[in-house]
Amino acid sequence: MSVTVVGSLNEDVLVRVRRLPGRGETVIGLDTVLAPGGKGANQAAAAGRLVPGVAMVGRVGADPAGDRQLAALTLAGVDVTHVDRAPEAPTGSATIPVEEDSGENLIVVVPGANAELQPWDAEVEPVRRAEVVLLQLEVPLATVAAAAAAATGIVVLTPAPPRPLSAELLARVDVLVPNEHELVQLTGAEPGERTAAELVQLARSLGPRTVVVTLGARGALLVPDGGPALLQAPPPVRAVDTTGAGDCFSGALAAALSGGAALPEAVGSAVTAAALSTTGPGARGALPDAAAVAALRP
Ligand code: ADP
Repeated sequence: MSVTVVGSLNEDVLVRVRRLPGRGETVIGLDTVLAPGGKGANQAAAAGRLVPGVAMVGRVGADPAGDRQLAALTLAGVDVTHVDRAPEAPTGSATIPVEEDSGENLIVVVPGANAELQPWDAEVEPVRRAEVVLLQLEVPLATVAAAAAAATGIVVLTPAPPRPLSAELLARVDVLVPNEHELVQLTGAEPGERTAAELVQLARSLGPRTVVVTLGARGALLVPDGGPALLQAPPPVRAVDTTGAGDCFSGALAAALSGGAALPEAVGSAVTAAALSTTGPGARGALPDAAAVAALRP
């Protein structure tokens, strides 16, 4: 396998509303759209669009929502042989009322089957043999740790949603990919605006490992384990929806690393892919293929 993702699959239930409800209030929604989601599956779909040999390890329910998640990943070119069906738990879901004009939202996540992904589910050939194993934190931490321990390739971890990580897990991570907010949480620093130099210092405080901090429209900051830091700006795009941009970034980074790209080159291609992903709706509405990324690379 080139890239194996161990992580979550969710069904996003997007409900358009004129105004978000307050506590105890009922509002009438305009419509409901079901979209495939979950950080793990979003990252796998992004990688699957870019390179062959991408596999997903995860768990969905034995329900129609589970069928839809498998179909969406398969369509993105991802091998779902190791996505198990939980007999009792439902497929994970995220219910998201979105305010029509402002785009502001609320999110209620029900982990469902994702919470039942066990450490031994990650101790499988696609994890052991992958060039890159890509991890996030929407499945139990013990499973994330088991995947990192079983991996023989490069381990890439997006620390989201932010949770305290054991020194043992961090020691096995080769490339950590937080956004600015996650980096601050991970280091226990005070929230607030920071210059690139200050972010480099925070990233280095995590110990010897490569850290890539994503910075939204500013691009991404590569802080290698040794050597100077490098800020890569995205190409100019007309961003319409940045949902899942970070997931596309991680998937594209893993895809590039699996092909043997050096870190600066891999970050450049991830910044480009993620920028392109913001030009369409939702987390997977505009995932680029390799030709689209190559055409825009500076
Ligand atoms: P997250 O989605 O985790 O909050 P970021 O907002 O940092 O992550 O975005 C991840 C990546 O997506 C950025 O490093 C950048 O490459 C790309 N990106 C995000 N927002 C924009 C934007 N407005 N214009 C261009 N690229 C963007």
